[in-house]
Amino acid sequence: MKRILIIGLVLLLGACGLTRPRSMDARGADSFEDDVRTARTLTEAFWQQYFQRLGRTYRPIADFVPYSGNSGPNCGNEPAVPNNAFYCPVGHFIAYDQDWMESLWNEMGDGSVYVIIPHELGHAVQAQLQTGFQLNVQMELQADCYAGGTLSSLVRSGALETQPGDEDELLLSLEAAGDPTDDWLNPSAHGTAEQRQASFATGWRSGVSAC
Ligand SMILES: [Zn+2]
Repeated sequence: MKRILIIGLVLLLGACGLTRPRSMDARGADSFEDDVRTARTLTEAFWQQYFQRLGRTYRPIADFVPYSGNSGPNCGNEPAVPNNAFYCPVGHFIAYDQDWMESLWNEMGDGSVYVIIPHELGHAVQAQLQTGFQLNVQMELQADCYAGGTLSSLVRSGALETQPGDEDELLLSLEAAGDPTDDWLNPSAHGTAEQRQASFATGWRSGVSAC
């Protein structure tokens, strides 16, 4: 299964309000649902192999829950909020506002989905590796780094394709769509856009072991 990430042009065209070009895939039937599913499958396959090399076993997330608006699942006592995607450690699941994510997919191209899902799965990995950070911002920046490392590895393996120079556009995508939770508006919680991009770039260039 080979996917082409259309990132650079999409951002430019998106900003101009033009129609989003379609991403290409082997079956010629690319859709938002397809991209979301693929982002999850490829990312978890990547981590499964990575854990194997460490002599460990990756535990796949228990559920992957689309929701709309306020109808999302609680995480412990925390209600899901609109326009968000999150990892819930209590149930070891990921939930995402599908309307919000689809609008990003429409406006920015599939790169947005391929940044958000690996970022959230990065939190699922942290829960298993017990990285033990004290500060939320450290967790967030590492998840950004994991997302970069996952993506570049999938590109190198041929599962995903980018065009030359797409790294910069991925960084733009991260800035605009990486983790736009409430916290995203609070620079102290997630790190500044520059810090997040630098973290993503570290993973992209040097792999997840550099995170
Ligand atoms: Zn996060």
